[in-house]
Amino acid sequence: EPTALDGEVAIVTGASSGIGAATAEALADAGASVAVAARREAALETVADRIEADGGEALVVPTDVTDEAAVEDLIETTVDEFGRLDVLVNNAGVMLLEAVEDADTDNWRQMVEVNLLGLMNATHAALPVMQEQGGGHVVHVSSVAGRRASATASGYNATKFGVNGFTEAFRQEVAADGIRTTVVEPGLVETELQEHIPDEEIREQTEEWVGSLDALQPEDIARSIRFAVAQPAHVSLNELLIRPTEQE
Ligand code: NDP
Repeated sequence: EPTALDGEVAIVTGASSGIGAATAEALADAGASVAVAARREAALETVADRIEADGGEALVVPTDVTDEAAVEDLIETTVDEFGRLDVLVNNAGVMLLEAVEDADTDNWRQMVEVNLLGLMNATHAALPVMQEQGGGHVVHVSSVAGRRASATASGYNATKFGVNGFTEAFRQEVAADGIRTTVVEPGLVETELQEHIPDEEIREQTEEWVGSLDALQPEDIARSIRFAVAQPAHVSLNELLIRPTEQE
């Protein structure tokens, strides 16, 4: 039975858990061959096994997105293996919430390197492949925090506002090349993201918040990404803001 992404090739970063894992599975389910990238190889293997058990095609490419050469290898390895690249989902991210006065600046650096520079470098490396093909689709997982700043999220806000700005500038540059862009801005999603918050009090508050409402699940975001990339080539769904219904 033909599906929307048959014959297409996708890369998903941060595919070892949460939104990335669910997105890799959703794109594979729609017919795409999917390269899954993140640091934890065993977790990537589990995702790839699930995709293959469902009849899909997956490629595990262990990648630290803060390593520019590794990001270039990810694009190259995928194109070598699958012959093309239609969809790049830059999803890898960390949310190390701290007030400015308490901030460990190494955490700021890590957020900028993963959430922002990693994404920019992957898009930079994928662009010539998509231009050569005459089209492609770049999906950037930003956040509600890319549109609305809040206390204790300063560093994270800086990276996600950065993602939104970068993506809009990129969109204008490549629109005529048939390259589409989508910024996805999730609200609260139940994943491992909150577990890495270094400030204990903020971590506990955030975990309490997750438990206090009917949060989104990774599959809820994956479904919207699948919807965006499955649009006809002349339709560019540029921005998706998705909150749990109960989130203020
Ligand atoms: P998870 O913690 O489950 O997923 C984060 C992913 O990023 C993991 O696969 C992790 O893999 C990967 N990652 C982290 N650092 C690196 C690195 N240096 N190199 C490669 N991969 C890396 O959280 P989510 O699924 O929630 O997060 C996915 C995206 O969604 C992030 O960009 C996040 O900011 C965004 N988001 C999440 C929201 C939420 O409420 N959960 C809300 C809004 C946006 P590994 O550790 O194996 O490298």
